[in-house]
Amino acid sequence: MKQALLDFNAFYSQLAQNRLQSWLETLPAQLASWSRDALHGDFAAWQKVLNHLPQCHSNYVELRQAVQFGQAQDISQGQAERIRFLLQQLKPWRKGPFSIYGIDIDTEWRSDWKWQRVLPHISPLQHRYVLDVGCGSGYHLWRMRGEGADFVVGIDPSQLFYAQFQAIKHFNPDPNVNLIPLGIDDLPALKQFDTVFSMGVLYHRRSPIDFLQQLKQQLRPGGELVLETLVIEGDEHTVLVPGERYAKMRNVWFIPSCAALCHWLTRLGFIDVKVVDLNSTSILEQRATDWMENESLIDFLDPNDHSKTIEGYPAPLRAVLLARLPD
Ligand code: SAH
Repeated sequence: MKQALLDFNAFYSQLAQNRLQSWLETLPAQLASWSRDALHGDFAAWQKVLNHLPQCHSNYVELRQAVQFGQAQDISQGQAERIRFLLQQLKPWRKGPFSIYGIDIDTEWRSDWKWQRVLPHISPLQHRYVLDVGCGSGYHLWRMRGEGADFVVGIDPSQLFYAQFQAIKHFNPDPNVNLIPLGIDDLPALKQFDTVFSMGVLYHRRSPIDFLQQLKQQLRPGGELVLETLVIEGDEHTVLVPGERYAKMRNVWFIPSCAALCHWLTRLGFIDVKVVDLNSTSILEQRATDWMENESLIDFLDPNDHSKTIEGYPAPLRAVLLARLPD
């Protein structure tokens, strides 16, 4: 059986030739031990799905307005049915949407809406090296490449998201867009990226200030951090640490105010810290679909008052912050 999900050689060759060369000192050993000891029970099944994806060819690649590879007319109906069937095996699809040869993967999240809130504010990505920490299935990696980034790397420890990313990449095998299935704690201080994104991750971290420091260590001097996370109303000393669950999630630790986040970033040595967007997550942006049939935001909110979570906390409010390292 082809083990493409475990083959990182093409990525290592890329690193050897670019400014992330020093990552080669740690990454191959980490991924070797990951491949040996840490694979998910369904990993072999996901690999099988990938092995069965047909080889299709199309020049149609859209990354500026959406993530779309190939069009319906480029393949036969039989091939389309086969692709749909195989991609459905990788459910639940949470981050997207993707359109593959006319097959619309309608994901739980409209990640494109988040991108619309972020993109107008950030430094142009043309020719940049970009890291996306907690990239999910990699939806935004493609959009970053679409904006002209030279080299885009995402990291995310979710192996299902990694399999989904590789399934999408199968239809547009761009060597400059990569997802590495590790977490932030596995990264050495690379200090090379022009832009580091981390969206929807900070509140899952038990040590949010250490996390921000880890993000900082990936940036070159003068580089830009783009941080998107849950926030609450309040002053620079306001932080919500929810009880066992927030919106039914067990892994939510710190939800600071915007002022507190700005304060933390400034304490860490970031400059030009600013909040550029604030948005209440709507039940149209996060919802169950044919590709994600589990509970979604509507089930996590108080049925009588959508301004509260089912536990009585303020409903999800998300901020986008920008910050820069001094030159
Ligand atoms: N950035 C995407 C996905 C956010 S979901 C978006 O904004 O739409 C949060 C992601 O963080 C999940 O995919 C989860 O697997 C990932 N994550 C959790 N712990 C992490 C860690 N230690 N390092 C990197 N990513 C992590």
